[in-house]
Amino acid sequence: DIQAPAHFIRNRIRKALDAGQYQRVITRFPPEPNGYLHLGHAKSIALNFSMAQEFGGYTNLRFDDTNPAKEEQRYIDAIKEDVRWLGYTWKHECHASDYFEQLYAWALHLIDQGLAYVDSQDAETIRAQRGTLTEPGVESPFRHRPPQESRDLFERMRAGEFPDGAHVLRAKIDMNAGNINLRDPVIYRIRHLSHPRTGDQWCIYPSYDYAHGQSDAIEHITHSLCTLEFEDHRPLYEWLLNHLPVPSHPVQIEFSRLNLDYTVLSKRRLTRLVDEGHVNGWDDPRMPTLAGVRRRGFTPEAIRAFCSEIGVTRSDSVIPFGVLENALRNDLNTRAPRTMAVLRPLKLILTNFPEGETEWLDAAIHPQRPELGTRRVAMTREIFIEADDFMEEAPKKFFRLKPGGEVRLRNAFIIQCHEVIKDEQGHVLALHCTLDPDTRSGRPGADRKVKGTIHWVSATHSVAAEVRLYDRLFQVPQPDGDKTVDFITHINPESLVVVADARIEPALAEASPGEPFQFERLGYFTPDPDSTPKRPVFNRAVTLRDTWAK
Ligand code: ATP
Ligand code: MG
Ligand code: MG
Repeated sequence: DIQAPAHFIRNRIRKALDAGQYQRVITRFPPEPNGYLHLGHAKSIALNFSMAQEFGGYTNLRFDDTNPAKEEQRYIDAIKEDVRWLGYTWKHECHASDYFEQLYAWALHLIDQGLAYVDSQDAETIRAQRGTLTEPGVESPFRHRPPQESRDLFERMRAGEFPDGAHVLRAKIDMNAGNINLRDPVIYRIRHLSHPRTGDQWCIYPSYDYAHGQSDAIEHITHSLCTLEFEDHRPLYEWLLNHLPVPSHPVQIEFSRLNLDYTVLSKRRLTRLVDEGHVNGWDDPRMPTLAGVRRRGFTPEAIRAFCSEIGVTRSDSVIPFGVLENALRNDLNTRAPRTMAVLRPLKLILTNFPEGETEWLDAAIHPQRPELGTRRVAMTREIFIEADDFMEEAPKKFFRLKPGGEVRLRNAFIIQCHEVIKDEQGHVLALHCTLDPDTRSGRPGADRKVKGTIHWVSATHSVAAEVRLYDRLFQVPQPDGDKTVDFITHINPESLVVVADARIEPALAEASPGEPFQFERLGYFTPDPDSTPKRPVFNRAVTLRDTWAK
């Protein structure tokens, strides 16, 4: 990986280490298992793991599973697969639910200290009493309930004596605080719900704010790195650590979220795309999920390089999707084997090539890396070229094939077009061409220059394949920018183009999903898991920035 540039979190950690405040850095990546990870999470993963790696510590994978209503085991499994795929290894797999007993004990501690109380008002009343930025909060009539009484009620909440919503536990902080998060936040709710891990052991569940900092402290996390929307929660995070007998005192540092144009990075929105059928599941190659971009052909190396390149700041910005695509091109350009595929085949007959014969040509696997060797490419009398590499009425600047014109066949020789075969409607059915044998590799005319070079495959040796071409999922740069318009209305109806009758070099039919290939002039592709030996399916991950012949 590229050496990451300095950023404020790294600088701050280094300073604290130099000052002897820590021996090493322990971080955590804390997903809520209520959906698949997306590219925004990749930024957080890369940051957390790289800080720990760089400063001699480790990272825990912690499932923030405090809300059983939305959490599922399949999401836990998918998250683990995705973090591993990105190339990171966590030290401990943790679950906030592992700490429910300790968190409960600490809640009793707060109650006994007069720092928490059971409020028996409904959620709506409590919400209204919390006030606004300009109005102070209103004290609950239960705020001065004796600790004894709160303890008794809280124990009975846990024992399942009350229905959902009958009571909540609130931290007793300051109803006049400028920061609304400090106006006696709710830290426990009654929810008679089964939890994927703790089953029916609990019918009260801690709030995110209450569980998170204490989980960090239990795991001896030194730096709790999170996105900027938690900045206003930091005083509460601190208050809880300061008032509980926790084993360590982590610091929370916020950074800005990753936003990418032409897509959405929010599990809630991505869940809608899946649930409403706008895409074919979480791993649809158009999705900005890690499962989606992996299926499409993005590599972990490219995503890590991208995260390093965009850096870590505290200012919000929208990164062009093209920055990520360039990271992918940079990665694949150096290592993807080259191959030829024809998306929209037009038959071309070499009239001076013997019928029934195959000539085996050597083609470089990677023109800039001769050490990777060569592959054999079959030349036959009938080949396919790309339909739009031929134009009957070609403008002057068209340097591909036209009647009477010459073009070089990639890895082969120069040909000239003599005749255009058409059906009764005038559709071009095939081209008759002759090859110039003197321009074969090794012959005196091999480096004779013609303006255009086109790719091709043998009609008899190539294999039929389906190829899926992707465009942006949304038609506007910020689909969720205007909150008055449903982001769904901005979906690009042409985000997927299926090419049913492409032709590929036969060896490609044996490739596995995730193996990258450059289809020369067309982009970088990888097999889709829908592939079968009889019917290979390829996804285009990204087009080439440049083509070697226009
Ligand atoms: P979403 O808004 O997509 O639901 P979330 O923050 O609720 O995201 P979590 O599973 O709680 O999802 O996120 C786990 C970690 O990933 C958190 O620390 C969160 O701050 C971070 N994270 C989530 N989205 C982004 C993003 N777009 N950029 C950077 N970090 C992110
Ligand atoms: Mg979250
Ligand atoms: Mg969320």
